[in-house]
Amino acid sequence: MKLHEYQAKQVFTSYGIPIPEGVCIRKLDEVLEATKKLGGDRFAVKAQVLAGGRGKAGGVRICKSPDEVLKAAQEMLGKRLRTHQTGSDGVLVNALLVEKAVKIKREMYLSITVDRAAELPVILASAEGGMEIEELAKERPEAILKVHFEPEVGNFPFIGRKLAYPMNLPEKATGQFITLVNRLVKLFLEKDASLVEINPLVLTESDDLVALDAKLNIDDNALFRQKELASSKDTSEEPLQEVKAREVGISYVYIGGEVGCMVNGAGLAMATMDLIKIAGGEPSNFLDVGGGATAQQVEAAFNILLSDENVRSVLINIFGGIARCDVIAQGIIEAAKKVKINVPVVVRLEGTNADIGRRMLAESGLKFQSAENMKKAAEMAVAAAREREKN
Ligand code: GDP
Ligand code: MN
Repeated sequence: MKLHEYQAKQVFTSYGIPIPEGVCIRKLDEVLEATKKLGGDRFAVKAQVLAGGRGKAGGVRICKSPDEVLKAAQEMLGKRLRTHQTGSDGVLVNALLVEKAVKIKREMYLSITVDRAAELPVILASAEGGMEIEELAKERPEAILKVHFEPEVGNFPFIGRKLAYPMNLPEKATGQFITLVNRLVKLFLEKDASLVEINPLVLTESDDLVALDAKLNIDDNALFRQKELASSKDTSEEPLQEVKAREVGISYVYIGGEVGCMVNGAGLAMATMDLIKIAGGEPSNFLDVGGGATAQQVEAAFNILLSDENVRSVLINIFGGIARCDVIAQGIIEAAKKVKINVPVVVRLEGTNADIGRRMLAESGLKFQSAENMKKAAEMAVAAAREREKN
């Protein structure tokens, strides 16, 4: 789960990590009050979207008066922002963070993430930060320091010191940096983060450190114990299908192709997607209805697939191990009664009660194509999607 910058900065504040003074606004008539509250004559106006690269895309504006803030807000609020991390459609800007602009002496980089290869969290720090960090990582990886730490042990001050000295900071800021690393580690562990990133971390004209940007991703598997953060989730930028799937407890990932997939088991679901690709098609989604799928869940899954207008055929691939084929068939039949199925459906049922399931489908009066094996099923589904495209 990704948090917005303004939400991440609230968490930063609760850990004593310094951020610029700011106000989050959602309407144009909140601009004046926000600038008045902040005071001063330079402001940063930042689009709150769950994607990076805003700076280069016009999603971060430095304004020299409240009037300029208003103008920037008019240009951004309610409009779509397209960055290299969003799709070509961009994402809708529903909120802006208006901050007192910071006078920057230097931009640096600091983050903590999980190093899967090392099976440990890792702190990344660089004396050079800002908008070009990806290029830096490619061209001069040695300019990015890496220090792993043991999550059970937590943090030791020496980690902060080890990272601080190569940053070449003035004395006051060196002390602040060490404290900052400690607090960031604490935050990372306590909030079950998968990523916390400050880019840029800036040295101000008064030689203080400030987190000018904030990115915080929480491990989805930990949301059950991060209730407060979980409740602040913004789903407005997610594909609608993923939001609906989460509500009914099925594991679904939107991909965007033309063959809708309904599969039980994550491994089988991935193999099915591979077979669709091999047959020359593109899966619309990953969908694992799960081992203990109920008829209601199958029905919900069907509805989710059919609500995607790119879907031109549906492939149902079930191996009934724990899931029973007759239950799945029942769900498909129920769903078909309620939703108008206007695309061809190919079914491959194998395993527990497969014969009963197949018979139920055959006797249901639904025009489903039955496939004798997975490979055939994928080929039939891709061909059916092609056929519809032509018509
Ligand atoms: P991102 O591009 O989405 O990562 O957005 P950032 O919040 O990192 O902002 C991009 C860039 O805008 C930063 O690297 C800064 O150079 C600049 N910027 C953001 N806020 C301020 C500010 O308060 N003062 C100044 N001078 N520059 C800022
Ligand atoms: Mn940034």
